[in-house]
Amino acid sequence: MSTPTTALDASALRSIPGILLPGDPGYDAARTPWNLAVDLHPAAVAVPRDVDEVAAVVAAASAHGLRVAPQSTGHLALSLHGLDLSNTVLLRMHRFTGVRVDPDARTARVLGGTLWRDVAAAAAPHGLAALHGSAGDVAVAGYVVGGGLSLYGRRHGLAAGHVRAIEVVTADGALVRASADEHRDLFWALRGGGGGFGVVVAVEIDLLPIADVVAGMLLWDLSHGPEVLRTWVEWTKTAPESATTSLRAMRFPPIPELPPFLSGRSLVVIDGAVLEEDERAAEILAPLRALGPELDTFTRIPAIDVLGVHMDPPAPTPGISDHLLLAELPEEAVAVFLSVAGPDAETSLMIAELRHLEGALARPIDAALATLHGRFALFTLAAVPVPQLFELGMQTTADAASALRPWSSGVAYQNFSDRREEASAFFDVETRDRLVRIREQYDPAGLWLAAHDL
Ligand SMILES: Cc1cc2nc3c(=O)[nH]c(=O)nc-3n(C[C@H](O)[C@H](O)[C@H](O)COP(=O)(O)OP(=O)(O)OC[C@H]3O[C@@H](n4cnc5c(N)ncnc54)[C@H](O)[C@@H]3O)c2cc1C
Repeated sequence: MSTPTTALDASALRSIPGILLPGDPGYDAARTPWNLAVDLHPAAVAVPRDVDEVAAVVAAASAHGLRVAPQSTGHLALSLHGLDLSNTVLLRMHRFTGVRVDPDARTARVLGGTLWRDVAAAAAPHGLAALHGSAGDVAVAGYVVGGGLSLYGRRHGLAAGHVRAIEVVTADGALVRASADEHRDLFWALRGGGGGFGVVVAVEIDLLPIADVVAGMLLWDLSHGPEVLRTWVEWTKTAPESATTSLRAMRFPPIPELPPFLSGRSLVVIDGAVLEEDERAAEILAPLRALGPELDTFTRIPAIDVLGVHMDPPAPTPGISDHLLLAELPEEAVAVFLSVAGPDAETSLMIAELRHLEGALARPIDAALATLHGRFALFTLAAVPVPQLFELGMQTTADAASALRPWSSGVAYQNFSDRREEASAFFDVETRDRLVRIREQYDPAGLWLAAHDL
């Protein structure tokens, strides 16, 4: 695929609404992604507010030989780290937002860069919930084009399987609606195939009749990590699909912004949601509760509060992560996990996380990401409070993930992959070939710069 390299003709883009060039007031704020560890220097930043403004940016960029990198929040911005963006317009979608819920059809139409928390807030008054992930400030668009691993995932599968239609502005500036009936190949590609097919300007999703749910966390000092991890891993072998949980070893610095139960502490935390009546949920959680957690917040809560359960950072944060999908987690792998993140590990990792997969996540859907292939998703995260810690963060997170590589399923999940070099592990050859053919059809000149390259 060809890569245009013409230098930016700034004056040519000046007349496009919402364009910011280096030196313009607002350029620096607009190029700053959610992940504050990442410093991107695009030729221009566009902040469109509607389809016409998106199309104008696309037409101008294309006419001047520039690439376009759509971004809604910049949660996955690390994947662009180190790229020369002097020929790229960063297209930030955060002003192009809105949600309309149809309570009878149980659907939502979600515009451009809308965040999951706004969808959850619009759905909640109707007793409905969405297949969002753990963080409310992730955007629907980026999450869905990556697949979408929800806290209801083991029961309901990937969020990409609950999408009815996606509208994109394609590389030729056209507005195209892709669904099961229209542009079917594009619809298939956009659900889990990544962000290289157009600017997502609307997503229509199914909502679930979930008004409240048993969800929460169990928390122990990390000294209990070995026992808690082993018990949880055993528990996951028979846990019903109604329970979607994760386990994290977490190390927090002593800072006043954190609540006392976190500040300066090393912890092991199990959290998640259990889609059952109270009594059955209690039965399911009993073996974990028997380990005597210091804090147990599992209870029935309004579905909208599920977005707070995983304690993801409430605001933009600098961090570096790495990731693997694990086929299995036998005792040797448990021992390795503990050696890199357990109570005795000397590490600068902030989080080592295992999310339990399987269930509906393992049943193929007709989308570019058909399943999440593995029993667990491993996610390693280092905080980067100062730029000097960037390289250390890259190394620490990669080393921790590499240590578990013997148990990798051989496939990676792009929403959790901050690193471009991991893209070759997202798809089997047949799926990648089909994605490349669709990409060539809708973007023959290689206009789009997505988080990951096919
Ligand atoms: C704290 C945290 C918690 C998370 N929790 C989960 C989770 O529970 N489950 C899960 O599956 N993932 C989770 N993620 C990963 C998250 O889903 C991905 O980072 C996702 O790509 C974020 O989408 P975004 O649009 O917000 O981010 P962005 O960085 O803006 O987008 C990522 C990529 O998606 C594409 N893209 C985004 N918007 C558009 C658009 N409008 N048009 C075309 N392409 C677009 C682009 O290729 C872009 O580079 C989490 C990430 C973080 C940091």
